[in-house]
Amino acid sequence: MPTDRVQLYDTTLRDGSQMEGISLSVEDKVRITRKLDELGLEWIEGGFPGSNPKDAEYFRRLQSVELKNAKVSAFGGTRKPNLTCETDANIQSLVAAETPGITLVGKASMYQVREILETSAEENLAMIAETVGYFKALGKTVFFDAEHFFDGFTDDPDYSLQCLATAARAGADALVLCDTNGGMTTSRMLRAIEAAQHRVNDVRLGIHCHNDTGLAVANSMAAVEAGVWQVQGCVNGYGERCGNADILTILANLKLKMGLDVVEDEQLARLTEVSNYVSELANMVPNPQAPYVGASAFAHKAGYHAAGVMKDERAYQHIDPGLVGNSSRVLVSELAGQRNLLMKLQERGIDFPLSQAEVKSLLETVKEKESQGYQYEGAEASFELLVRRTLPGYQAPWEIEDFVIVERRRQGHGRSPLNEMVAEAMVKLRVEGELQHTAAEGNGPVNALDAAVRKALSVNYPALSSVKLVDYKVRILDSKDATGARVRVLIESTDGTAYWTTVGSSTDIIEASWLALADALEYALLRAA
Ligand SMILES: [Zn+2]
Repeated sequence: MPTDRVQLYDTTLRDGSQMEGISLSVEDKVRITRKLDELGLEWIEGGFPGSNPKDAEYFRRLQSVELKNAKVSAFGGTRKPNLTCETDANIQSLVAAETPGITLVGKASMYQVREILETSAEENLAMIAETVGYFKALGKTVFFDAEHFFDGFTDDPDYSLQCLATAARAGADALVLCDTNGGMTTSRMLRAIEAAQHRVNDVRLGIHCHNDTGLAVANSMAAVEAGVWQVQGCVNGYGERCGNADILTILANLKLKMGLDVVEDEQLARLTEVSNYVSELANMVPNPQAPYVGASAFAHKAGYHAAGVMKDERAYQHIDPGLVGNSSRVLVSELAGQRNLLMKLQERGIDFPLSQAEVKSLLETVKEKESQGYQYEGAEASFELLVRRTLPGYQAPWEIEDFVIVERRRQGHGRSPLNEMVAEAMVKLRVEGELQHTAAEGNGPVNALDAAVRKALSVNYPALSSVKLVDYKVRILDSKDATGARVRVLIESTDGTAYWTTVGSSTDIIEASWLALADALEYALLRAA
């Protein structure tokens, strides 16, 4: 529900993915795009097509993805000094992305222009004007990210403002003021915003904050209160160094504290789910203390508080956790849990009338699995199988009787002097009543197991030959137990048209991998059926 007062712009897929430890596959990025679209964000910055082929591939994939709410923007710099837009390869990669929006980052600091870009003040202004104009002529929505605006304003206010005015004259749809180094305090930032509003009063402003002073959300909120229109941020505050402004916190603040209807109530109720979903795909441990969405955000440990919460939920909570899809851990709302579960079933197209008792028991199974380290937010295929297995009449296409894995270190010699690890798996599977016994080698235990199981299944299910595993993620769940810790494995598979993710959890990494793998193949057969 876009409001005219404020616009949410997500940059998780570009700025957020700069965070140490985050590496998103093209498919991860497509799935996150869909999720953010469901959340109701207006703009999603998809990536930097000029910087890496993965992002260019993402924009190609996106051509066939239908979005309900969001528009996607491609990010890149203004043209290079002394080139034309037509001859600048980065500019042309933005054209090739075929997105409705283009986000152009340009220097808005005299110091940066002289010392880092090593060009003249005039050439930088020409770069801004020509590049903005070039994309406006192509009919794009153009956001101008004024890089280092605040630091530049401190040193040479007139030049920084001139950069904004230049982009505005060239037709930019919004001028986004960036605290690129994240060092601003709120009062200094507000002074610069006021000057920008004074200088350019016919083009809307945006804000892009980093969290190096721990003020990214606070500064973004203050900017909105000062009249800034577009707010940029990242899910879970991801981003390099100390992160970007957390767009989920900002979203909840705008809606619940400022009464700005940036998303529908039902979309807000998915906030916690979106946070967990993105942490699963980014393979980042969720921050339990994240405002609104963290597991501890509404947890009450002290007996005194807990007793107060029992009497009245509002006693020690600033909002009703259900509004953002979270729950207070003292009073887990059964009803909310059941409602979420039914919503998920509907989304997966599982249309099976369940009695109240069946829903309750399913919910208990999910909770039990979660206590064993499962997490279904990023693994919908495993969730669907979990549900289907409880429905009457569901028959698993095969059953594993037994498997053995042997690993050897092969001594190198002669022409292949390198030592190598070889894994061999032997499996006994019961497929439609018949026992299959196969063996296969692989470059690791999971690879060997996968090959042996496929061999056993391929006779009855030739469709499996088109199924590929495309990603494999391992997360240590309780790192304080060191090597005795539980691990969660996420496996992403594709049959060439659809992608799905499955999960397994165990204290044994091979077992966790096997559980995720077995689900991946079972789900493939379910799709093929
Ligand atoms: Zn940034």
